[in-house]
Amino acid sequence: MAYSQGTRLPGESASKLGHLAVITSKWVKALVGEFEHASSATSDPAKTTWQSFDAVDVMPLRNVWAVDGSYVSIQSAQKPPKEVAFVKTALFTVDRARLDTIDKEHPHPLLLQDVLTSSAVFHATVFPLKNVRTSLGSNYDAVRHIVHDSMQIDENGAFYETLKWLAYRKWETTLHASSPAFECPHCHQKLETGLPYDADEGNCPNCNNLVFLSDMLGFHLDMDEDSAPDSVASAYMLIMEHLMLFTAIRLLWGHTDKSLVSETLFIKDGPLTLRSQYSKIVPNIRAFLQHAKGIGRPLHISGQEKSGAFFDHLASIARFPAPHARGEPMAYAVLSHDYVRREVYRSPDLSNPYGKRTNWGEKLYLKMDPNTYMVLNVPTGDYNEAGAFPTDNDLIGLSRILATLPSLVSHKFEGALFPIELANGIASMSSYPSAAILQRFVEDQAS
Ligand SMILES: [Zn+2]
Repeated sequence: MAYSQGTRLPGESASKLGHLAVITSKWVKALVGEFEHASSATSDPAKTTWQSFDAVDVMPLRNVWAVDGSYVSIQSAQKPPKEVAFVKTALFTVDRARLDTIDKEHPHPLLLQDVLTSSAVFHATVFPLKNVRTSLGSNYDAVRHIVHDSMQIDENGAFYETLKWLAYRKWETTLHASSPAFECPHCHQKLETGLPYDADEGNCPNCNNLVFLSDMLGFHLDMDEDSAPDSVASAYMLIMEHLMLFTAIRLLWGHTDKSLVSETLFIKDGPLTLRSQYSKIVPNIRAFLQHAKGIGRPLHISGQEKSGAFFDHLASIARFPAPHARGEPMAYAVLSHDYVRREVYRSPDLSNPYGKRTNWGEKLYLKMDPNTYMVLNVPTGDYNEAGAFPTDNDLIGLSRILATLPSLVSHKFEGALFPIELANGIASMSSYPSAAILQRFVEDQAS
């Protein structure tokens, strides 16, 4: 709950509850007490350990890449309504020196346009969700083929090449790994050994039907024969955000200037997380980041969570730690798994270490000035399930990331990072064709 001030929750509302029989429950009493005492809290109930950050002697990173995406589903007016989803993702880069020349409160439109056109790429596709039939086959196969084709079309297949790079661990030049195991989209048997190194497609050893490397991700597990839910569009957006960000990483990794990749900050909107079937590429991402750290070419990556459990929790405690005045050094708190379970989720799930399958970054809170705070994710490379993990030293390149962020803060939105704001501008709905045009598109396709 985000009642950070608590001044509008008077004891009065509690006394109104006093006549209810349920108030005799000690759990309900405790809840009512919580409301009454919320306004008087003078210290952080979570006892978060904050540390002051001193940027002196830490070199900020030179370049910034940011990725963001959006999707929208559109229904036609016919009955039954036909439904499609448009997905758009954008990758944006700028060197900090150039970013510094832009007024972050009132950016000059021409200057902004100049920066954006020369340094942004975007990707877009469309999925049939409901009541759309093509002459080629079922909705199920249409979505599979659209995923397969869409990933290969833009930027001469660079994003698809990144999928292969991650799936086959291509940074390991001597080992020829096969893809992660996945479920056949035709017979639903698991291909235990995945696809062989570098393969784009293969035949299922069980049913002999053709399977694509893109089937490895498992979009088909979210669908049935005739329809697909919105979640296919949101999952595709998330996967493409990852593939675009790692395309930038992959190209810089292979650059002749070996230091370039480590002098760059990569920012993703949202957590560094892939859930359910999509989490099967998480181990490979972690392995790459660990490898890069191990050979002295660390990657500086940060995700930013602008909503959700962590954001709400931080909002409720952000007033307690310094800085209490502008000009004081900023402070951060790295969240251990124990802290996340105890204070953020309040549910000690002992059978399942926090984030073990899904997360390729750990959480931290950052308070930059009295009114600016944010929830960040930073990778550690290998995962460690210990409750006390991670600490400062586990987060890859934390000091350099923290030294870079102050120059990237937006002055337009509270707690926003300017590069994400710009990527968001490219990826957002406002740059889609208008809804009326989309509607016509759906109806034209249908006739
Ligand atoms: Zn099969």
